[in-house]
Amino acid sequence: MRVSFHGAARCVTGSCHLVEAGGKKFLVDCGMFQGRDDLGQENSHPLGFDPREISAVLLTHAHLDHCGRLPLLLKGGFQGPIIATPATRDLTAIVLMDAAHILQEHSERQLRHHEHAPSPLYSLVDVFDTMRCFQNTARYGETISLAPGVEATFRNAGHILGSASVQITERAGNARTRILFSGDLGSSGRSFLLPSDPPSDSDVVVMETTYGDRNHRSYTDSTAELRSIISETFRKGGTVLIPTFALERTQELLFLFRKWDLEGFFPEGSRIFLDSPMAIRSTDVFERYADAFDGEIKDLLARQVDPFHFDRLTLARSSDDSRRINEFRGPAIILAGSGMLSGGRMMFHIEREIGNARSTLAFVGYQSEGTLGREIVDGARTVKIFGQEREVHINRAMINGFSAHGDQRDLLDWCRKMAVPELSILVHGEKRSMEGFRKVLPQIGWNQVILPEMGESRELPSRPL
Ligand SMILES: [Zn+2]
Repeated sequence: MRVSFHGAARCVTGSCHLVEAGGKKFLVDCGMFQGRDDLGQENSHPLGFDPREISAVLLTHAHLDHCGRLPLLLKGGFQGPIIATPATRDLTAIVLMDAAHILQEHSERQLRHHEHAPSPLYSLVDVFDTMRCFQNTARYGETISLAPGVEATFRNAGHILGSASVQITERAGNARTRILFSGDLGSSGRSFLLPSDPPSDSDVVVMETTYGDRNHRSYTDSTAELRSIISETFRKGGTVLIPTFALERTQELLFLFRKWDLEGFFPEGSRIFLDSPMAIRSTDVFERYADAFDGEIKDLLARQVDPFHFDRLTLARSSDDSRRINEFRGPAIILAGSGMLSGGRMMFHIEREIGNARSTLAFVGYQSEGTLGREIVDGARTVKIFGQEREVHINRAMINGFSAHGDQRDLLDWCRKMAVPELSILVHGEKRSMEGFRKVLPQIGWNQVILPEMGESRELPSRPL
């Protein structure tokens, strides 16, 4: 068995790992690189392998940085199946369609300014072609045969709806190699989805390390912080802007607001706007997979209470709906994408509110290096919005206990549930975070740790059965 890394190597985006086993090649994820403009140049670079040689893709989950380059794979001649859980398949369709729209808009904008703007990386047609490759759906714990002697097993990663860790096993004669890809791992203590399944023992573990060097505030502290931010902002007569990714965090916040609404927390006349067609569609998918829910949300469902929809919530589907939010004069919370302020409807709300010292911009998710969100979190006094230099007067808050990513404690807990592997390979983290995680791994006996470079390839030894 051989593994090579074609994304998320010493960075957090563009996940794409290639496994050669049983004389065939398989990809685990084929995600998009995301940066300041969300559609970084890196995405148009060669993939680093010939897509025609890939037999199948195993997709861990529907986040764009894991699935966003799949259409490019198709355009490059890939013809195999894409294997994922049913929820991942449904969410990926939404995520990729949204990406195709953004790519289209991006290219049209460029055309207005440059005569020779590149055509969009891919179109809706490419996305439809991609979705046709989702023939085999994986169920947690079921073994899927990939080739003679090669099989894969998906297990719940507890990160977002449908998310999985994937183990690939190759058997040849009396020898065996098992490699486990963590995928993105969930955060403990949240009251939303079932927690991750214990991982299976493996010879090699490829680990995400987004928050490898730090621990989140507890979920309870974070919800309390958000409540006080909302109260304080409303008291000052401001608006709370929450940039969110359409998946998971949005549904988690809707569920939370739903509960607070039942408790009478929100003042009379206040409104919550969900200004994201994609988030609205994703919420519909969540309602189809209620068996993935855990805890309080199950109790609400048992009482026939819709966990995601309520009177105080306005869903803005069309751009007219979105513009009408500007006319609302009462206390408001606006949830819109993109989560890192790299585009999307939130940009219009930010443009309006960035100079308003009474309003608050509350980040609830990871802000990747090079994004506008990160600039603001890092304390920038001025930022560029739609090409204009703007002063930042809006209050800023970073509440990290809502993260869909596990923190250092969660990652270590997950590792502890399996036998010490011969080798662990850290990916999907910024340098500081990977180094931080590498330092703590020896505490649990994991001493053989590497941080691969982009394009690096490794032969994995097989072990006698
Ligand atoms: Zn993810």
